[in-house]
Amino acid sequence: MTILNIIDAIDRWGMKEPNRPVYIETTQTYTYGELKKTSDAIAAYLQKNIERDRPVVVYGELEFEMLTCFLGASKAGHAYIPIEAHTPKERVDMILEVANPAVIFSVKEWPDLDTEAEIVSLEKIHDICAKSWILDVPLKPVDDSETYYIIFTSGTTGVPKGVQISHKNLLSFVNWELTDFGITQGMRFLSQAPYSFDLSVMDVYPALTSGGSLTPMRKEVINDFKKLFTVLPTLDIEVWVSTPSFMDICLMELTFDGKHVESLKIFLFCGEELPKMTAQKLVERFPKARIFNTYGPTEATVAISGVEITPELLEKYSRVPIGYVKSDTQVYIMNEDQEVLAEEVGEIVIAGPSVSKGYLNNPEKTEAAFFNYKGQPAYRTGDAGKLKDSLLIYDGRIDFQVKLHGYRIELEDIDHHLAEVSYVKQAAVVPKYQHHKVQQLVAFVVAHPHDFDKEFKLTKAIKEELSTSVMDYMVPQKFIYVERLPLTANGKIDRKGLMNEVNAT
Ligand code: AMP
Repeated sequence: MTILNIIDAIDRWGMKEPNRPVYIETTQTYTYGELKKTSDAIAAYLQKNIERDRPVVVYGELEFEMLTCFLGASKAGHAYIPIEAHTPKERVDMILEVANPAVIFSVKEWPDLDTEAEIVSLEKIHDICAKSWILDVPLKPVDDSETYYIIFTSGTTGVPKGVQISHKNLLSFVNWELTDFGITQGMRFLSQAPYSFDLSVMDVYPALTSGGSLTPMRKEVINDFKKLFTVLPTLDIEVWVSTPSFMDICLMELTFDGKHVESLKIFLFCGEELPKMTAQKLVERFPKARIFNTYGPTEATVAISGVEITPELLEKYSRVPIGYVKSDTQVYIMNEDQEVLAEEVGEIVIAGPSVSKGYLNNPEKTEAAFFNYKGQPAYRTGDAGKLKDSLLIYDGRIDFQVKLHGYRIELEDIDHHLAEVSYVKQAAVVPKYQHHKVQQLVAFVVAHPHDFDKEFKLTKAIKEELSTSVMDYMVPQKFIYVERLPLTANGKIDRKGLMNEVNAT
C-alpha cells in the first residue's frame, strides 16, 4: 500500500474502524475512534485561536495525549515540536527562543519557565477534547513541503538545532518502511524511544498509518532492570523498534528470546552502530524473527538505508553494514564536495525526497550542511562510509559528534556548557570507545581555584551545575583535572590527542 497523506491514512482507521486499538497501556487501551475525536478537537481549538503558521510545542513523555496533540496540530496546519518532560530548563528555554511557538501543550506539568506562548495544561487538553466543536472554515492540514514536525538535536555552539521535517519528507520515509521491512496491516509496535528522538517516528507513523497499535514502554520500566526484565517476557508486541544500546540491556535477561516472546516478528534498529555481537545474539535468540539494521540522520527523516541481518551477512562482514539505500534516494560518497572513486571511504551525502529543508531559523547551520546536488536536496551527514556492492558500510564520524545510548551529542555542545559552570575555566570532552561504541564521556577540565578538599567533591559540584543546562546523558562520567589543555599546531584544543590518550589502553 502506498500512503498519499499521513493524516488521511490515520483518520481513515478512525472512521472505518473506530474501535480498533491504537494505544495499548497496561491499564487502558485507546482506540482510533478516540484518537480521531480528540485530535479533531485539538485541531479545532488551534484553528479558532492560533494563527496557522506558528509551531506548537508538545511537552511530556509517552502519554496518549501526546499523540492527540501531534495529530491535532498537523490537522490544523501547525508543525509540532516534541519536548521530553524533565529536559533541563535552560535547554527548553533555548528551544523556545529558536522556535517561538504559539502554544505549548503541557501533557506533563510545565516547569517554572516564562514564555509568551499559551500554556495548555493536561486538564485543559481534556476539556478541549470533551467539547463539541463546530468550525466555520474547514481545517487545512499540513501538506506537501509544509513542516510536519521539528526535532531538536545537539548543536556545536551549545544551542540546539531544530530539524524541520515536511509532510513530503515523512511520506517518503513511511512508505519505505511500510514496503521494505515486512510490516503488514494492524501490527503491534513497541513505543520506547522518547518522542523528542526521531527514532520514535519509526514506530509512530508506520504503526498509525497501517492500522497498527503502539505499546508504550515508560521510563519507570526502562530505568528499573527488575521491572524491565519482568515486563520483557510478557510483551505482546510484533514489531520492536529501539537503539542497539537498549537491546543490549534487554539481552541481559536470558528469557528474552523467541521461545518466551513468540509474538516478536520484526526488529528494527537505528540511531547508532549495531555491534556485531548484539546482532549475533539476536539472530540466535530470535531465529524466526526478521532483524534489520537501518541508518540515517534526523535531517534525512529517521533512516535512509536498511539491511536484513542474517547469519550469512554476519559471516561476511566484520562490521555490520548499514544497508541498501531506499529506492527514491541517492547516497554519494564525497571528499571536499567531490565524489570519490567506487569503494573508497568518504563523507556520506544523502540526496532525495526525505532530506529536510534545514534547521529552523538557523540559516548559517543550514547552509553549512544542506545544499542542492544534481537537482535534489542534499545533506552532508558528517559520517564516513563507503559503498560496496550497493551496500553502505559505516566508518565512524569525520567530526566530533558521538552517540551515547543512541543519543546524538556534539562534544562541543558539552564543552560550551561545561565552560559556563562556575568552577570551570576551560574544558574538553572526549569519548572513550570499546568495540566502536562510546562507553563513557571523559571531561578534561582546567578548574578555577576552589575550596574543595577532594576532587570528587569538585566533580560532584560541577556535575550538579552542568545538569541544569544539558540533558542527563550529556553529563560526562569521568573528570580529569589538568593545568592546561593541549593545543594543536594552529592553536586549537587538541581533542584528537586527548581522544588518543583516553583510548590508548
Ligand atoms: P540521529 O540524528 O540522532 O538519528 O543521529 C544520526 C547519526 O547516528 C548518524 O549520522 C550516524 O552517525 C549515527 N547512526 C545512525 N544509525 C546508525 C547505524 N545503523 N550505524 C552506525 N551509525 C548510525
